[in-house]
Amino acid sequence: MSIVVQKFGGTSVASVTHIERVASRILKTRREGHSVVVVVSAMGDETDRLDSLAQEVDYSQQEARREIDVLLSSGEQVTISLLSMTLMKMGCRAKSYTGGQIRILTDSAFTRARIHDVDTSKLRADIDAGVVPVIAGFQGVDSEGNITTFGRGGSDTTAVALAAVLEAEECQIFTDVKGVYTTDPKVVEGARCLEKITFEEMLELASLGSGVLHPRAVSFASKYHVPLRVLSSFNDSPGTLITNEENSTMEQAIISGIAFTRDEAKLTVVGVKDIPGIAFKILGPVSDANIEVDMIVQNVAADKSTDFTFTVRRHDYAQATKILKKVAKDIDAREVSGDNKIAKLSMVGVGMRSHAGVASKMFQVLADESINILMISTSEIRISVVISEKYLELAARALHSAFDLANENSELA
Ligand code: ASP
Ligand code: MG
Repeated sequence: MSIVVQKFGGTSVASVTHIERVASRILKTRREGHSVVVVVSAMGDETDRLDSLAQEVDYSQQEARREIDVLLSSGEQVTISLLSMTLMKMGCRAKSYTGGQIRILTDSAFTRARIHDVDTSKLRADIDAGVVPVIAGFQGVDSEGNITTFGRGGSDTTAVALAAVLEAEECQIFTDVKGVYTTDPKVVEGARCLEKITFEEMLELASLGSGVLHPRAVSFASKYHVPLRVLSSFNDSPGTLITNEENSTMEQAIISGIAFTRDEAKLTVVGVKDIPGIAFKILGPVSDANIEVDMIVQNVAADKSTDFTFTVRRHDYAQATKILKKVAKDIDAREVSGDNKIAKLSMVGVGMRSHAGVASKMFQVLADESINILMISTSEIRISVVISEKYLELAARALHSAFDLANENSELA
């Protein structure tokens, strides 16, 4: 019998009533002839609540990482028990397991552990006996028996890992939206739910701020060839299937989606000398402080001095500014300037590989709306621009409509 792994996120299991609905969905899949392995998140915003309790204690989160994992992993333990009981009430044999109980073995990097191995023996025995195993998401155990977690949003990764080791037919991620959209439906009215998308595109969209899937789960699924589907636990629509490009029979759209994030800030070191080693001197201390740098631009020097600009997450802006002010002194730069009211918008599509002109059309659309582009970066399947945050929604709408993304059969570019 084919195995389907079904993962239900926090909003899908927010109450006992929700959990009953989830149980019915599981039973439906079983009636369709599949063995089901279930992964759940903590109920609703429970993980946030637990996290704020830890903040209240006000002890160094760095020192307390092992304890944070003990705390945060407990949310999922509540859900697995309630769901298993609900399934049993409905006449279906079920059994709950924490990550440690089925031996999801990880390294000891608390709060961001990586999976090394998963023991399938208990799961296989349950499946063979017709029992539904219900597994707590985003957690495992290290070689010493310590509880570890994979970082916020990590339950998707648990589901994908189980699907990989069990060679499941599909890994289904149930959430509160219909699937993966061409862009955020809260911002663009015509946003459309995609039927299919490639792993590569999904990875770009997931890392660029489309919150439906955890980026790590997407790369994991891609690496182990796990067909991944995002679908709603609130209705019966088929959702979005994420697969390899080769497996996709459909004609590739040029653009699959527009992702954006407001979580951005940019910093410029003005008037730095155009000599070797400058980029390292500027970015070294920034990365030493564990601040992630995204786009980087350095101008060609006109008069032996140049400007060096890069973006960071908005919450790192203050710290990065402080570091740069010191660096600027050390390297004798003129000044440090910055802007934390910026946003990044990206257009993603594998079809870009075979179509020229996407970038110029994108820039033209933004120009027509008088939106100034502050920075540009591209990859083979993505064009990202940094713009002022206040124009973000306007830009998203204008591009969605110019590239005709509301229309399924759109071939425009
Ligand atoms: N409950 C955890 C979180 O909220 C893990 C997850 O839901 O994926 O981050
Ligand atoms: Mg959650």
